[in-house]
Amino acid sequence: MDTRTWAAPLRGAGHKIFGRSLRENGIAIDLSQMTAVTIDPVARTAQIQAGATAGDLIEAAEKHGLATATGTISSVGMTGLTLGGGYGPLNGAYGLVADNLLSAQVVIADGQLVTANTQEHADLLWGLRGGGGNFGVVVSLEYRLHPLTTVLSGLLLYPLDQARAVLQHLNEFIATAPDELTVQSGFIQTPDGVTVLFLSPTYCGLLEAGEQAIAPLRTFGTLLVDQVQPVTYNDLIHSSDALTPSGRHYYIQTRSLSGFQTKAIEALIEQGLPFSSPFSMIAIHNFHGAASRVGVSETAFALRQDHLMVELTAAWEPQSPDDEQRHIQWAQNISRSLSPYAFKGGYINLLDEKEQERVPLAFGSNYERLLDLKRKYDPDDVFHSTIGHLALQHNN
Ligand SMILES: Cc1cc2nc3c(=O)[nH]c(=O)nc-3n(C[C@H](O)[C@H](O)[C@H](O)COP(=O)(O)OP(=O)(O)OC[C@H]3O[C@@H](n4cnc5c(N)ncnc54)[C@H](O)[C@@H]3O)c2cc1C
Repeated sequence: MDTRTWAAPLRGAGHKIFGRSLRENGIAIDLSQMTAVTIDPVARTAQIQAGATAGDLIEAAEKHGLATATGTISSVGMTGLTLGGGYGPLNGAYGLVADNLLSAQVVIADGQLVTANTQEHADLLWGLRGGGGNFGVVVSLEYRLHPLTTVLSGLLLYPLDQARAVLQHLNEFIATAPDELTVQSGFIQTPDGVTVLFLSPTYCGLLEAGEQAIAPLRTFGTLLVDQVQPVTYNDLIHSSDALTPSGRHYYIQTRSLSGFQTKAIEALIEQGLPFSSPFSMIAIHNFHGAASRVGVSETAFALRQDHLMVELTAAWEPQSPDDEQRHIQWAQNISRSLSPYAFKGGYINLLDEKEQERVPLAFGSNYERLLDLKRKYDPDDVFHSTIGHLALQHNN
């Protein structure tokens, strides 16, 4: 039977930008209504159903003074986020979202419900930590929680003409920043149409120590705005939702850089500005600390060295479909200009389907092991996703 005619793409919270959770001639399994979260405050774990978002999990954990690593915004599904890795403001302290996954219940291709943890189906747990939605229907996930409610965070805005100097300072700064401090950065437009450089530090330790740790960031140039203050982690991830409201059209390209090399900064500024629309933006994740200390072969997620994951997000109103190509090209142009300075792979959660050649490069030395896992748990590629059809080709 040609399983590709009924491949079963999976939908969690529906934030996969390239619509991998929907497929022509496929049956979409939609878990977005399964959002229950159960917290065990003594064991410091959270059990979530597969449709729960980061917001659902953090809201429930916050009541017990706990949290875990999530992405930057609250509405992204924890399942998709975890299966691809999961960059966010707590990477330095707690690692990737996937590094906090303790176990999962999965319906595999032959219909069996299995538990993947360090004792049972440990190979599957390894693959679920960053290997993509390739192996079955994840029904529930269990995460490690950490004592955390309040962080020190907010935006620091710098004028564009200081961007080069500020990013060069930032490059030196993040190389020695403590684990508790993760500094996201990028370019956005203010509501009055001015493009600015933003730094978004998040410190998740003692607030006084955080003030000291963040202080140098305030001296990299002449600040336009300083919004850094104590905020609950729950409020922090909700506050970023407004940047990407549903209803707009989006296209994202990503490149991972080892740092802010001068030429990469030039490429960002020369190709990125002006933006293709007032809603487009460039956001740069800071991967370091606990996330970098995990060994390359410990989880499927392979890029385990300090780096910057640059997200180039083109956004436009649906009323202007004629301009679509212009917006897409904006992101593609910057991505192309950054490629000489970037790692060859990419962030599998945000790769365009047309960029399949970057998938094996992203998994690097873990790729063969992932193919073996695919052959074991989903040999007919029922759960067609990132490595699906490559695995099939490999089998033939
Ligand atoms: C606005 C926005 C902000 C983002 N911010 C971040 C960020 O801060 N950090 C970051 O790392 N990424 C971020 N991303 C990327 C995000 O991690 C991916 O898009 C992720 O796939 C979204 O997961 P989802 O469950 O919401 O998406 P869905 O579209 O529902 O699912 C995406 C894929 O995950 C797999 N999947 C989902 N549910 C299941 C399941 N139950 N069983 C098996 N497989 C499943 C499937 O392969 C599916 O195609 C962002 C994306 C958007 C659109």
